[in-house]
Amino acid sequence: MADNALHVVDPEIADLIKAEERRQADTVKLIASENYVSKAVLAATGTVLTNKYSEGYPGKRYYEGQQVIDQIETLAIERAKAVFGVNHANVQPYSGSPANLAIYLAFLQPGETVMGMGLPFGGHLTHGWSVSATGKWFNPVRYGVRKDTGRVDMDEVRELALRERPKVIFCGGTAIPRIIDFPAFAEIAKEVGAVLAADIAHIAGLVAGGAHPSPVGYADVISTTTHKTLRGPRGAMLMATSDEHAAAINKAVFPGLQGGPHNHTTAAIAVALREAGTEAFRDYARQVVLNAKALAEELISRGFDLVSGGTDNHLILMDLTPKGVGGKPAAQALDKAGLETNYNTVPFDTRKPFDPSGIRIGTAGVTSRGMGVAEMRQIGAWIDQVVSALAKDEEEAKHVILRVHGEVRELTKHFPAPGL
Ligand SMILES: *Cc1c(COP(=O)(O)O)cnc(C)c1O
Repeated sequence: MADNALHVVDPEIADLIKAEERRQADTVKLIASENYVSKAVLAATGTVLTNKYSEGYPGKRYYEGQQVIDQIETLAIERAKAVFGVNHANVQPYSGSPANLAIYLAFLQPGETVMGMGLPFGGHLTHGWSVSATGKWFNPVRYGVRKDTGRVDMDEVRELALRERPKVIFCGGTAIPRIIDFPAFAEIAKEVGAVLAADIAHIAGLVAGGAHPSPVGYADVISTTTHKTLRGPRGAMLMATSDEHAAAINKAVFPGLQGGPHNHTTAAIAVALREAGTEAFRDYARQVVLNAKALAEELISRGFDLVSGGTDNHLILMDLTPKGVGGKPAAQALDKAGLETNYNTVPFDTRKPFDPSGIRIGTAGVTSRGMGVAEMRQIGAWIDQVVSALAKDEEEAKHVILRVHGEVRELTKHFPAPGL
């Protein structure tokens, strides 16, 4: 045992990491924005690359000693271009939020108008929500979804765009269970002379794997995190087709917003993109959607109210109002049963953001563990049992939670998570 090993230097943190690893192994991860990275991706993140400063871009740095880092970043860029079919990729944004900020810096002046989906309808904070810098320093206008369909109404988006003349339009979001109509957004952006930014943070893995239409050829700029369905490390990328947009983005990321890129993350992104370029990943992406559809069907058959009536991707948004339970107590009870979800506002929610009506679930994580349609039906049944018991009687719910938790542990044993 090396005397500089983590558990020797800092047993407290080492034990907590072990505990988290155990928790992740024993629970069914249904959080739509999470996934399990491979051992290879994990290995790349924990390396000496974290020691190196590399402000600038490959071939044009402000520090010496870039012989290796330049090769790593170039590989990441080339793989991103190949996987997504774009001409330019910037792999340096620290995460999805800074990546989106770079879009503002590249294409907007303070006070100018940005259009995005409102947060309560499934947009992201960085698409101009009021508490975000993007909502405070710019002039945000917001579209939502129709009450009757739970889907974006492109006529409404067009009307709003024609009236407000945004300089940037964001499409994409965090709680959208349906296919995003990139061609329709592109047409509107063109009509009003706006830059179209497709934020595919949630669906990047599905796009890479051919299980969701690609924004390439429609969006001027594509923003994505690398750690959701794409199954890479925590990080982000910005992609573009035109040289002009690419130059603006590169300048905005560095020196506009950031200093040195996180090279260990860049290496892990490269590994994840290599994995995402395989036939196995295409199968994975397809299975993520099949699993979400199976889980949605099971939940619908058990009387759950799904926003938009189902799903086309990895994500399900449920309104628990008909079940007589709030989203928060339901998510907490499910977590106790080993089913990890998050409470979420639903469109036109009548409850407060900290105690909303819905829960959001996703199938990226469970699919990474090799679970299929049969397991989705079982998970749907468990969700129903816990939520229905909670609605009836808290004491009875305790027994149901205990039983389900035991069954969840049994299932997870048979589907070891990658990387753990
Ligand atoms: C997750 C997400 C982000 C932000 O990513 P962070 O890495 O959490 O900053 C931005 N946009 C969308 C649509 C997302 O889903």
